[in-house]
Amino acid sequence: MEDAWVNWALLGASTIASQYMIAAIRAAQQGTVGWVVSGNADRAQEFAKTHEISQWTTSIADALADEAVQAVYISSTNEKHFAQVMAAIAAGKHVLCEKPLAMTAAQSAEMIAAAKVAGVTLSVNHHLRCAGSHRKIRELIASGAVGRVLSLRLFHAVHLPEHLRDWRLNAPRAGGGAIADLTVHNADTARFLLQEDPCTVVAEMSQSGMGNGVEDSVMSVWTMPSGVMVFSHESFTHPFTESGIEVHGTDGSIVAIGVFAQDPLGEITLVNRTGRIEVLFDKTEIYEAVIREFTAATRGRGVPAATGADGAKALLIATAVREAALTGVCQTISYGVVE
Ligand code: NDP
Repeated sequence: MEDAWVNWALLGASTIASQYMIAAIRAAQQGTVGWVVSGNADRAQEFAKTHEISQWTTSIADALADEAVQAVYISSTNEKHFAQVMAAIAAGKHVLCEKPLAMTAAQSAEMIAAAKVAGVTLSVNHHLRCAGSHRKIRELIASGAVGRVLSLRLFHAVHLPEHLRDWRLNAPRAGGGAIADLTVHNADTARFLLQEDPCTVVAEMSQSGMGNGVEDSVMSVWTMPSGVMVFSHESFTHPFTESGIEVHGTDGSIVAIGVFAQDPLGEITLVNRTGRIEVLFDKTEIYEAVIREFTAATRGRGVPAATGADGAKALLIATAVREAALTGVCQTISYGVVE
């Protein structure tokens, strides 16, 4: 059984499934895609044909009723995650859900509790935890390479590709906006790198050329319990910048360029009294690692890279950023509801 393949159903005929996750499931050599479910029959059929998926449907219940399906990957628009995750858990399937896990903390808590009761794995696709670059930065921090960490700066301003300029830019009810899309990634990255959870947040957001009813740019400052200060920048509107992470400590700095990516890209430099050192890191395909670790967890080996609680905490932080930006008031974050 240990080496049995996992048969997946995809909920959502999405770009991320098409560009990365189907290939990752197949390349991880432990997965096959049995179903795609879409709200639109023509799109479902076309998607199934393009990706050589044997079964398609517009009925989630049909795919979930298939006993051969063991795991479900959910990459619909954000407002659908909650109901789809709950349906998949109720059908006894393991679930890998896209970020953000849900729209509210209360929904996240319900999802986590339901997965626990059902005894299934619930994971959130915070894929950057599986990036060799992020793992190397975490390792450097933990080994004391920069001494005591003073500050973390997360640069996640991108130029949203043309083909994604849809619900992200004009549909608050679908979970559009830079906070739902990018701040959750930064929140998870800060937690992953520093191994602690932000306690307070101040923020500003704006519509700087792309957003239509949703923010397309955000800047926020978070304080960690240890006193580390975190600066986080996310945007859809920046054509010429590169993403990056800077960690500044008493004995050195880590400067990583191009590491908020879907592919194993980027460069890491450690700067200290001896000079500048280029740091090498593992270039394993990121989403393949997500699938491998998720699959191992479904077989009782370890936990997925990002658990339901990790997804819920990232959402709580992003929600606090929105609230701080809306009100101009510093937000204190309480994690009790998802712990
Ligand atoms: P898409 O816009 O490509 O797909 C989302 C949904 O939109 C699909 O499920 C589909 O609905 C519908 N849709 C897709 N194409 C069309 C079309 N041509 N016409 C009408 N409707 C269409 O979204 P993404 O793939 O960019 O994002 C999906 C989810 O994945 C989001 O939650 C996002 O946050 C997350 N994501 C995560 C990433 C990561 O690295 N972890 C990266 C990118 C996205 P239906 O279900 O009915 O088929």
